[in-house]
Parts: sequence; structure tokens; C-alpha cells
Amino acid sequence: MQKDPSTKIFDLLQFGEYGDVNPSVCDSATFTFMQAKTMMDTFHGEAEGCFLYSRHWNPSNKYLADALAAMEGTESAWVTASGMAAITCSILQICNSGDHIVCSLTTYGGTFAFLFNYVKKFNIDVTFVDITNLDLVKQAIRPNTRMIYTESMTNPLLQISDIPALAKISDDHHIKLVVDNTFTPMIVAPYQLGAHIVVYSMTKFINGKNDCVAGAICASHEFINALSDVNAGTAMLLGPALDPLRSSSILKNMHTLHIRMKQHSTNAMYLAVKFKEYGIKINYPGLPENKGHKTLKGMMNPEFGFGGLIAIDMVTAERAAKLMEIMEKSGVGYLAVSLGYFKTLFSNSGKSTSSEVPEEIQREMGLSEGLVRFSVGLDNDIENTWQKIQSCLSQM
Ligand SMILES: *Cc1c(COP(=O)(O)O)cnc(C)c1O
Repeated sequence: MQKDPSTKIFDLLQFGEYGDVNPSVCDSATFTFMQAKTMMDTFHGEAEGCFLYSRHWNPSNKYLADALAAMEGTESAWVTASGMAAITCSILQICNSGDHIVCSLTTYGGTFAFLFNYVKKFNIDVTFVDITNLDLVKQAIRPNTRMIYTESMTNPLLQISDIPALAKISDDHHIKLVVDNTFTPMIVAPYQLGAHIVVYSMTKFINGKNDCVAGAICASHEFINALSDVNAGTAMLLGPALDPLRSSSILKNMHTLHIRMKQHSTNAMYLAVKFKEYGIKINYPGLPENKGHKTLKGMMNPEFGFGGLIAIDMVTAERAAKLMEIMEKSGVGYLAVSLGYFKTLFSNSGKSTSSEVPEEIQREMGLSEGLVRFSVGLDNDIENTWQKIQSCLSQM
């Protein structure tokens, strides 16, 4: 039987040189060699187990990367100083000047801004499509297309990408499928479903503490080696290495990820049903009538649920603002961007994390100006949380 992702992490024997159960933090930028030749071999990537310089590899980063690779079922992984670093390095590692990318129209605001504004300077073209319309995806592919880029569950509309179908399209055209799995770690395993590269903002669920920004790239040995190559690797040369002290704390938090994902999902499902019964327009892929429900059900690891994100439509930005302010005062959670925190966070996507997306494109993708996205927290008494939310709604 296939092991679940959390068991794969638990099965790793990662301990320090003194038997310390949490691997020692390797607090060094550089590493010494007893023989000059070993240093030379390490530079050429020929000295197994040797570390050279922490922008390239650091043992603490390697422990975390190994845990991520185990979770995803990839051969390798590389950890970055932010989710955006993971995304931009993966894209720039694959694409050259003159290349073309097909990207989901609904993506994280920073990714959208990078692909909409920034890659122009490299003469890289991007076509944004409704990623759930596979015909549009196929039609968008050109001779110079190098990748399809999407999110398993897209931000902020919570659309579900059909990863096996997109992988088939990619393979048919000999191009890469890059998937951002930030919203659904453990729930979806994009690499197992045929994606070539999986990227994460570990800032969110994986770390789950909102005490740092960090990211990860999970892929084949070949890709990670190319990415970290001393002479030509995008990650090595642009240099967004994660601080090993952080790697060490994220690794410890990863060991509770499976429990947290289950609780986030259970609470999100509870609130989604309550909002629906209350008569508020609710978007949650866990509800059977949701557009992405069937696709997600066909891909997911069911024991972790449908994820911790829900979105409600308050119709106008003013009503959204008022509700969020009342909810914050009532202790429902915080009016803040980001997600995957142990407390509930809510924000109006159109006016915050998706404000990089021009308003006409927001309308085109069906993003209501009154959309309030909730990252539902780990509340032990979610019924009580709903009572608070209901009282906030009655004050509207
Ligand atoms: C937050 C986020 C990012 C960016 O990650 P940072 O760690 O903030 O750089 C990318 N993709 C998604 C889906 C996100 O939610």
C-alpha cells in the first residue's frame, strides 16, 4: 500500500551527530576541507556528502529539502527564502528569452505580477487562460511554449486544476507542468499526478506559524542539480537561499502538518456548510455542488480533507470591509493577508493579495469585489466560532 505523505516524512531517520533528535542546526556559511582536492571535486559536484557554501547547500537546508521530497515523492528538493523565489527561479530555470508560457488566469497576485509585468524584459510571452478549460489550454500552446503554470487550488477563486489532464497535455507537447501546491500540501501530490515541478510557499500551511517567509521547489535530481549548479543554476546564481536556522524550525513544524491539515479542513467544511445554510454565497471545493469538487475528489488524499480555504461573497467591497472589521473585533480572527496560520485570517482578495491584477481582469476571472477569503484556523470549538460569525453577520 502507498504510504501517506506524513508517514514518508516520519520514516526519514534524521538526527544530529550527537543523536540529537532534532538535527543540529548547521550555523555556517562556509565549510572547511582537509584536502584541497576534495574542495575542487565538490566544486565540480563530484564529492558526495560534502558541503561547500551555504548559498549552494547547507546540511540544515538539506534535512528540510529531504523531508519535502519525501512528502511529494520527488527525487529531490531545494528550499528558498520565499515562495516567490521558488516560483521565479523555477520559471527562469526553464524559460529562455523568446519562450512562451501558458498560465492560469487566476494565480497568486505576486506570480501574476511576475508573469504579467516582469518577464517582458526577458522577451518571454505569457498567455493567461481559464485553467479549468482544457481546450483553451491546448489552443494556447505554441511552438515556443515551454511550460504550463498553475496552482492545484487557485488563488483566490479556489478553482481546481485537473493535474493529470494538464500533465498529459504537457507530455504530449514535451513541455513542463509547474504546479504551485501552497494551498493543498498533503491533500494533493502534484508530482505523483504527473506534474514535473512542484513549488511551495512554505510561509503558509507547511510552516503554519506565520513567523517567516520561505519556499520550496520539489523535482527530479536532474532539475534540482541544474537549478543549484555552481556555474549556471538559477537558484545558485540569483541566490535566494533559506537561512539554516529557519530551515530547522520549519522542519519541526512540518512534523505536525498532517494533523493541522486535517483540522483546517474539518473547520473549513463546518463553516462552509453554515455559511451556505445562512444563505451567503460560498465557495468551497469541499461542497458537492462546487465546480471543482469532482476534480479535487479524483486527485486528493481523502484523509486530509478539502483544505482550509473558503471564500464568501459580500457583493461589495464596503460590505466586505465592514464584516471583516466586526469579525476582527469579535475575535473570529485577524484581518490579514496570508493563510495557513493557526488562527483564522481573512482578507478581501480584490483589494489586497490580488490587487496586482487589473480590475478588468478581476472581472473577467469572476472575482467579486466583495470576495472575502478565509484561511480557517485550528479552532478547537468551531461551533463557537460560527456563533461569533453569525452574530457579526446579523450586525451587517
Ligand atoms: C503566498 C503565496 C505565494 C508567495 O509566497 P511568499 O512566501 O509570500 O513569497 C505563492 N503562491 C501562493 C499560492 C501563495 O499563497
